[in-house]
Amino acid sequence: MTGTFEYDKDADGIVTVTMNMSGPVNAMNDEYEQLMGDAVSKLEAEEGLKGVVLASAKKVFFAGGDLNSLLAVGPEDAERFFQSAEQIKSQLRRLEKLPVPVVAAINGAALGGGFEICLACNHRIAWDDRSVQIGLPEVSLGLLPGGGGVVRMVNLLGLEAASPFLLEGKKVSPDQALSAGLIHATVDSADELVPAAKAWLKDNPDEHTQPWDQKGHKIPGGNASSPKLAQFMVGAPTMLSQKTRGLMPAPVEILDVAVNAARLDFDTALTVESRGLTKLALTPEAKNMITTFFFQLNRINSGASRPKDVPRKQVKKLGILGAGMMGQGIAYVSAKAGMDVVLKDISVEAAEKGKAYSETLLDKAIKRGRSTEDKKQALLDRIHPTASNDDLAGCDLIIEAVFENIELKNKILRETESQLADGGVWGSNTSTLPITQLAEASEKPDNFIGIHFFSPVDKMPLVEIIRGDKTSDETLALAFDYTQQIKKTPIVVNDSLGFFTSRTFGTYLDEGARLVHEGLHPLRVDNLGKAVGFPVGPLTVHDEVSQELTRKANETWAEMGVTDQWGDGSIMREMIDFLVVQNGRGGRHHNGGYFDYNEAGKTLWPGLLDRFHKADHNIPDQDIKDRLLFRQVIETLKCLQTGVLRTVADGNIGSIMGIGAPAHTGGYLQFINTYGLQRFADRCAELEAAYGERFSCPQIVQDKISADETFA
Ligand code: NAD
Repeated sequence: MTGTFEYDKDADGIVTVTMNMSGPVNAMNDEYEQLMGDAVSKLEAEEGLKGVVLASAKKVFFAGGDLNSLLAVGPEDAERFFQSAEQIKSQLRRLEKLPVPVVAAINGAALGGGFEICLACNHRIAWDDRSVQIGLPEVSLGLLPGGGGVVRMVNLLGLEAASPFLLEGKKVSPDQALSAGLIHATVDSADELVPAAKAWLKDNPDEHTQPWDQKGHKIPGGNASSPKLAQFMVGAPTMLSQKTRGLMPAPVEILDVAVNAARLDFDTALTVESRGLTKLALTPEAKNMITTFFFQLNRINSGASRPKDVPRKQVKKLGILGAGMMGQGIAYVSAKAGMDVVLKDISVEAAEKGKAYSETLLDKAIKRGRSTEDKKQALLDRIHPTASNDDLAGCDLIIEAVFENIELKNKILRETESQLADGGVWGSNTSTLPITQLAEASEKPDNFIGIHFFSPVDKMPLVEIIRGDKTSDETLALAFDYTQQIKKTPIVVNDSLGFFTSRTFGTYLDEGARLVHEGLHPLRVDNLGKAVGFPVGPLTVHDEVSQELTRKANETWAEMGVTDQWGDGSIMREMIDFLVVQNGRGGRHHNGGYFDYNEAGKTLWPGLLDRFHKADHNIPDQDIKDRLLFRQVIETLKCLQTGVLRTVADGNIGSIMGIGAPAHTGGYLQFINTYGLQRFADRCAELEAAYGERFSCPQIVQDKISADETFA
C-alpha cells in the first residue's frame, strides 16, 4: 500500500488534508517528508483557498519520529540527519505561513512529532476521549522535540510554563491540554472534529498568523533576559543537575535550546533546535533509551514472552493469602482492575486491616482529585476480607503473600489449592524461596508459579513471573494475563535462587558491604552509588530492605540446604552478623542499620567506622563506581547465559523497572552494547585482577564478540 495525504477541497474553499501513510501509523520519515512537502506545495498553489484542516486517517493522529531510523543514525549521518530535521521544519514553517488559517483536527494521540505538527497549525481542536494524549515525551527517550516543538512551546507558553512539558515529557488529556493552553477546543465525538474545524475557519478567516509571527510578539513570562525570569534561569540548571546527576544529556540540551528560543529570533532558534536534536540522536543514552523503553518494552507488552497458543484469559475472582504489606497492595491493584478479591488472613480483623489500606490510598487519591467517593466505594465493595478458606471457592488465581517460611507456605498451599476453579492457578509472591521446591508440596505442580511483586505494589510497575520446572504453558499464560490486567509489565524468568531481580540486586548490596568491609568510608561508597545513577546508595537501600530480611533469608536457605552456586556470600554474612546479631541493627525499621535514623534524617552509625574504616586505604572513584555497576551487569549476564533470563528485553526492563538500574543505561544488558563489548570484557579483566574473581567476564560476552553480535 502506498501512503497518501488525501486532499479534499469543499465548496467553501476549505481543503482537508488527511494523513494516511503506508505504515500502521503516521510517522516522521522519508515518506512523510515527501507527502507533507507535496501537500504544502499544493496548498500554496491552490486558487481560492479559504482554510485548511489537517486530519488523520489513523487511530493515532500522528505517532512522531521514526525511531528505527533514529536508532541507526551514526556520526557519518549527522549532516544528513540535521538537514532532514531542517527540511521537516521548513515544511511546517510554510504550512503556518499560508495566507489562510490551518486547523489541526486531533482524533487520536498526538505525541512528540505528532504534536509538533499541531503546534504549526493556527488552531487545535481535539476529541475529548481517553485515547487522545497530548505532549512531547521525547526526553524520556533521550531526545528533544526537534520538529519545532521546543521553540514553539516556549513562544506559546513561556519558558517556565513550557518546562514540565519539555523537560519531564509530561503527557496530558485533551481537557488538561485545553486548560494548559496547548489546544484551543475539544469536541465530544470524533465525527464532530472536521465540522468544528470548518466552522472555526469560516468564523475566523483572518486568524492565519501565528502569535510568534505577529508584530510585537512577546513571549509569555518574558524573554531570557527578563528580570521576571531571573529566578528560573538560576534555579533551573541547578535543579536539573541535581535530578540528572550529569548522566542525562537530553534535559540539559532541551533547557539550552529552550533558553535560546527565548533569546534568539524564531528561525535561528529552530536551527539551534535541529542541531541539539542531531547531537542527542548520536548519544549512547538516546540509543539505550530508545532500544529499551520503546522497542523492547513494546515487545514485552505485546506478549513476546507469553505462550502463543494459549487463549487469553481474565481473572475474575482472585484469592490473596496474607493481608500484610504485600497482600494489601496486591488486593488494591487487583480490585482497581475490576476483580473480585478475597483477602484472607489469620483473623477477620487482620484481613480488614489489609482492606483498610485500600481505603487510605483511595482517600489520598480523592484529595488529589484523582478519584471519587463512588469509585472508592465500588472498589472497596470488591474486596472481601475473611479468615475462612471456604470463601476462596472458585478462584481463578490464588496468590500467597504470607510470612517467608516454607512450612507455612506448604501448609496453606495444601489447605487452599482444592478451592481453585477448574484450571485455576496458585502463585507465590515469595522473594527468596525456589519455586520448583515450593511446588513439590502441590497436588498440581503444573498449576504452580512464582508471581513476584515489588514494594510498594501500587507504585512499582513490574511483576517478575517465575516459571518452575513443572509450570505449564497455561499457568504461565494466566499469570501473564493477570499481570497485564492489573496494568503492570510482566517479565518471565526461569527458576533460580533469587530469580533474576533479587539475585542481581543482591550483588549491589554485597559489593557495597565489601567496599565498607575493606575499609573505605561508607558515605563515599553510598554517594558514589548515587553518582552511577542508582536511586540511592547501596547502604541506604540495604537499610530500607532491611538487614534482618537478609539474615532471615540466609537462615532459611541454610535450613533448606540451598546454596548459591554463583557467589561467595561470606563478607555479607560477616556484615550481617556484625550488624544484626552482634549489634541488633536490622535495618531502618529495626533499630537502624548502617545508619541511625531520627526525625531530622539519617546519620552514619559510628560503630561502622570504628569497626571497618581504614583512613589509609584508598582506591579510585571510578573503580568504586564500576564495581557497584559491573557486579550487577555480570550477574545479569550469568542469568542470560544460564537461561534464568529468557530474553534480553526481560533483563533490561526488569533491571530498570524492578531494581533501579539507571535509566540512561537502557538496562544491564543494553549498557554493554553502547559501552562496547570488547571494552567491557577488558574492564572486567582489570577489575578481576585488582579485586577478585567475581569480576570475571561471563563467556557469553566473548561468544557475542566472536559472532559479531550485540545483546538484542
Ligand atoms: P507481612 O509480614 O507484612 O505480611 C504477612 C501476612 O501474612 C500477615 O498479615 C500475616 O498475618 C499473614 N499470615 C500469616 N499466616 C497466615 C495464614 N496461615 N493465612 C493467611 N495469612 C497469614 O509480609 P510481607 O512483607 O507482605 O511479605 C509477604 C511475602 O511477600 C513474603 O513471602 C515476602 O518474601 C514476599 N515479598 C515481600 C516483599 C517486600 O518488599 N516486603 C517484596 C516481594 C515479595
